[in-house]
Amino acid sequence: MTAAADLVLTNAEVHTLGSPDETHEAVAVRDGEVVRVGRAFDVELLVGVETRVVDCEGRVVLPGFIDAHTHLPMVGRSLVHADLSTADSAAEAVELLRERAAEVERGDEVGGDGDKTDWVLGYGYDESTWDESRYLARDDLDEVSETAPVVAFREDLHTAGVNSVVLDRYADEMPDAGVRTAGRDAVSEGVGDGDAAGEPTGVVVEGAVDVLREATEPGREEMAALVRAAQSYATARGVTGVHDMVRGSRAPEVYRDLDEAGELDLRVRINYWSDHLDALREVGLRTNHGGGSHRDLVTVGAIKTFTDGSFGGRTAKLTEPYADAAGDPAAADDETGQWVVDPEELRELVADADESSYQLTAHAIGDAAIDAVLAAYEETDDPGSARHRVEHLELASDEAIERFAELGVVASVQPNFLKWADEGGLYDARLGERRLRTNRYRDLLDAGVDLAFGSDCMPLGPLLGVDLATDHPNPDQSLTVTEALRAYTSGAAYAGFDEDRLGTVAAGTAADLVVLDESPWETDSIRDVAVSMTVVDGRVVFERD
Ligand SMILES: [Zn+2]
Repeated sequence: MTAAADLVLTNAEVHTLGSPDETHEAVAVRDGEVVRVGRAFDVELLVGVETRVVDCEGRVVLPGFIDAHTHLPMVGRSLVHADLSTADSAAEAVELLRERAAEVERGDEVGGDGDKTDWVLGYGYDESTWDESRYLARDDLDEVSETAPVVAFREDLHTAGVNSVVLDRYADEMPDAGVRTAGRDAVSEGVGDGDAAGEPTGVVVEGAVDVLREATEPGREEMAALVRAAQSYATARGVTGVHDMVRGSRAPEVYRDLDEAGELDLRVRINYWSDHLDALREVGLRTNHGGGSHRDLVTVGAIKTFTDGSFGGRTAKLTEPYADAAGDPAAADDETGQWVVDPEELRELVADADESSYQLTAHAIGDAAIDAVLAAYEETDDPGSARHRVEHLELASDEAIERFAELGVVASVQPNFLKWADEGGLYDARLGERRLRTNRYRDLLDAGVDLAFGSDCMPLGPLLGVDLATDHPNPDQSLTVTEALRAYTSGAAYAGFDEDRLGTVAAGTAADLVVLDESPWETDSIRDVAVSMTVVDGRVVFERD
């Protein structure tokens, strides 16, 4: 006599996404684990009086999506504060901030009493999509409030606009950080330098933005509110696990708090910024700690570091100059971008963390940066067993792809970045014809490289990424739907040492599942396929009504 299942999904098209991808009619779940997958008749033998049976009416069931690169608190911030990514003009952004200011004034708290704050914050504006392409400046934000501090963060978080209240409070702390005039490219040093009349414009960059980010860093209660908002957003998109990148925030503590309270609706693998390496080592936390059974939702992941910047800022490190480098100081002397962490410093960090048995993951976008990371990994004992990863690798050379395969290094890539790869897009402007050699998913898979998909929360949404990866601007690099779905499931699971319990549907794996309204193999627009149910650890965490 076998114990009854807690949950049975039947009359479904269950895809294992294994190799080969097999389909079944039903799946049964007990105690957070898949206990049977197969014909409806066989699976329904496990239905007992307490079992919840869901008739999927022929819908597709997949292993839950794992987003291998997230910043959940950022998702939470744009959900809780003003989301400026939807603004089509400076005026619209100001209007959204006014609405948020009214909420703040009414005392709609973000967290608990301890976090009561008068800041009016907006995230994610992108003036490059507006008719009048200019940064939000002090004059705009003084219209939002003359008494409360107002900050509008640009999408890339390297530029922000502030009102007079913020300038008054923080001018001293933002000395040489750089304050831009409201034009797109003029950069001047110091808060004192301003517009023609010598007044600060309220457009601040880089170090000054860091001051604002620290000043607005959420406390524990507010962080819990942000994570709750973000996890609802993620599970509604079929995400059952994330590899979250954390640095100097309350997020790791909050993930564990919520898990302990039974309120965490996602698996979270925490990739800690290298600043935390010594602390982790001291308290004895190592890669994969906390992942002993499927019930542990929070796991220690890799040590995260940077090498270069971004294409947007012309700071990704290239072997050949930017196509549009002329005259941009940010592109550096030889117009090939900048090191954020130089190769020597990177080598030392990699050697140190690898020696203590940590998995490493390094942000590297330009071809020179990717080569530097591979060179550092090559010096370690066994980069393949350690599953060291590279994040982004947007412009990898043929040789680099071969080295990924030889070393067993994981390629953690973000297919939604393909939104920049079209003719006339960002890659075209920065890289010219090299745009067609970006994000080489087909070449990576064909070389035998482990491919993990993620979103970097720009925006979070696996089906958007799958859609873009199957319709690559360079058709030679497109993936099949099955391959793209695997990169968002078993591929990401592998990057987190989780391939035995996550990323497929089989007896004995964790019950992390997503039910889709339409088949991604049969729709015209994968990004528009709705999620009808998401199950994490056997628990229904999202259900569309
Ligand atoms: Zn990121």
